[in-house]
Amino acid sequence: MHEEYAVLCEVIPEPRCALDFRTPLQLLIATVLSAQTTDKRVNTVTPALFAAYPTAAALAAANPQEVEDIIHPLGFYRAKTKHLLGLAAALDERFGGEVPRTMEELTSLPGVGRKTANVVLGNAFGVPGFPVDTHVLRVTGRLRWRADWRQAHPDPVKVEREITACFDPSEWTDLSHRLILFGRATCHARRPDCADCPLNDTCPSAP
Ligand code: SF4
Repeated sequence: MHEEYAVLCEVIPEPRCALDFRTPLQLLIATVLSAQTTDKRVNTVTPALFAAYPTAAALAAANPQEVEDIIHPLGFYRAKTKHLLGLAAALDERFGGEVPRTMEELTSLPGVGRKTANVVLGNAFGVPGFPVDTHVLRVTGRLRWRADWRQAHPDPVKVEREITACFDPSEWTDLSHRLILFGRATCHARRPDCADCPLNDTCPSAP
């Protein structure tokens, strides 16, 4: 595992969050919007959204139709608008408009699960967080970094616990970024590019 991760560090020396943001609030909003779409696409709508609604209070008071118009290209725009406005209202009412800095508080917000909370903790606050998404599940399974690699639908919380136990907390956020970037670029869901993969010498799933 650690030898393979050393290779990933070489091929992906400076991983970073693919969502554009300047503040924790912007990252939280962008992460929520990234469900069922790509980070690239989210980045095309967030500048207008953040300019129109710079605070949680402004977003909570927004006209839903206007928010829908801005985020329309992302799909599921009605549900996402409802979700965003509810989240903004909860942030405004319960946290004075500030994004909280703990897993417990973040996941107490409507529609915020561990994955989103870990993205915000790791990338906005520098608090160790290991977001587990579909790429992390796939790559850790193919590399057999986790015991339940045969599971078709592994439990992300269990995977988070198992993988983070093997790495220093200071590495968790970059580890997650690298696995996601590697999964997107090489270890694709359908046709992994095993022939050109830098891990094909050791990967148990390589042909
Ligand atoms: S060898 Fe293939 S399956 Fe294994 S990590 Fe590389 S791309 Fe993924």
